[in-house]
Amino acid sequence: MKTLDDLIKHSGGKLDGRRILVRSDLNVPLTTEGKVGDDGRIRASLPVLAKLLDHGARVIVTAHLGRPKGAPDAKYSLRPVADRLAQLLGRPVGFALDTVGESARLLASELKDGELLLLENVRFNPGETSKDDAERLAFARGLERLTGGEDEGGAFVEDAFGAVHRKHASVYDIATLLPHYCGDLVRDELQVLQQLTGEPKRPYVVVLGGSKVSDKLAVIESLLPKVDRLLVGGGMCFTFLAAQGHEVGDSLLEADQIDNCRRLLEESGDKIVLPTDVVVAAEISDDAPTQTVPATEIPPGGKGLDIGSDSVQAFAAALDGARTVFWNGPMGVFEVAPFAAGTKGVAEAVAASSGLSVVGGGDSAAAVRALGLDVNGFGHISTGGGASLEYLEGKELPGVAVLETI
Ligand code: ADP
Ligand code: MG
Repeated sequence: MKTLDDLIKHSGGKLDGRRILVRSDLNVPLTTEGKVGDDGRIRASLPVLAKLLDHGARVIVTAHLGRPKGAPDAKYSLRPVADRLAQLLGRPVGFALDTVGESARLLASELKDGELLLLENVRFNPGETSKDDAERLAFARGLERLTGGEDEGGAFVEDAFGAVHRKHASVYDIATLLPHYCGDLVRDELQVLQQLTGEPKRPYVVVLGGSKVSDKLAVIESLLPKVDRLLVGGGMCFTFLAAQGHEVGDSLLEADQIDNCRRLLEESGDKIVLPTDVVVAAEISDDAPTQTVPATEIPPGGKGLDIGSDSVQAFAAALDGARTVFWNGPMGVFEVAPFAAGTKGVAEAVAASSGLSVVGGGDSAAAVRALGLDVNGFGHISTGGGASLEYLEGKELPGVAVLETI
C-alpha cells in the first residue's frame, strides 16, 4: 500500500500543477443553528490537506455529512464545514455547490497550486452509495474527471478512516480509477488498531457501552478470546443483566439478544464484568429525579441511564494496571447531565491507565471532548466508529483493501 509520503517522495516533493482528490471524513455533528458542533473529525483531517497544499498540490476534497437520500438536501450541506475548515487551516477554502456538476467542474479547473476546493456532500449523488457497481463507477468517473485523470497528474488520497468500511464510490471505486495513496490519518488509525488485534500487551481490558448489544455483538465475539477483562456498561448492560435473570424495568432491552448474552456469559463469564449499581430515573431529562440502585434491583418503570459510582470504582480498578485498553461506547446517556458521571469516571480511568489507551466510536470520542477531558491523556482517539469496530471484528475494509491493489 502506497502512502501519501510515497507520492510526495516519488514526485520529488513537487506536486504543483497536479489535481489531487482527497476523501476526507468531515462528518461532524451540526448544532440546531446549523453550525459545526464537535469539530474533531475536521481537525483530524487537517494534516493531510496541509501537507498536500504545502507541496503545491491543487487539492479537491470530497466528503459526506449525515445520511441524505441521494439528492441535495440543504440541512446536510457541507457549507458550514467549509467555513470551519478554512478557519482551522488558516487558508481560503473554495466550495462547490455540487459534487461532479457544473460548479465542481468549473472550480476544479480554476484551482491554482496550493489551493483547496471542497465539494458539496458526496451523498447528494445517488451514485455514491449505490449497490449497483456500474452506477457507482459512473459517479466515480465524474470525480476522476475533476482531477484531469492520471494522464494529467490526477491522484487519489484515501484519508476518510471513518468511511473505509463502506464500499462507496468516493471511498472504493475512485481508487480503481486513479493512482491511490493512503493518507496519514488512515495509516495512523490502522497502526494503532493493529496493536489491539495482534499481540496486545497484557492485561488487555476492553470497555464497551453505548446503546445496543446488537451493534456490538460481533466485536464482543471476536474480542472476548483476546481480552483479559470485558467491562460492560451503557444501554447494552441491561440485556446482559436480563440474561442473568434480573428485572431491568424500562431500561433499554433487546429481548432477541438475551440468548446471545447468556451464551457469552456462560462461555466467558469470568471475563465479563457487569455494573453492580445503576442510576435510574423515570425519564431522560435534565431535572429528572434520579436514584442509584443495585443492578439486581431495578424498580418497575425505572430506566437505567448510567452506571453507578460503585461500578465506576470497580471498572477503574480493573483498568488500573492495564497495559492495553480499548474503550467504545458511553456508560450512560452522557448527553444529559444527571447521567454523565459514569462515562466521565470511566473515561478518566481509561486516560489514567499507563499503557496504550484507544477510544473508538463517534459518541465516545464526542463524550471525551464534551465532558471536558484532556484528549492528551488517551493514546489514540479514533475518528471511525463503525470502521474501527469492523476492523476489530476482523472484517475486510473495502476502502483499505482497494489501496492494496495496483
Ligand atoms: P459510539 O458511537 O461511541 O460507538 P453508540 O453509538 O453505540 O456509541 O452509543 C451511544 C449512545 O448510547 C449515546 O447517545 C448514549 O446516550 C446512549 N446510551 C448510553 N447508555 C445508555 C442507556 N443506559 N440507555 C439508553 N441509551 C444509552
Ligand atoms: Mg454512535
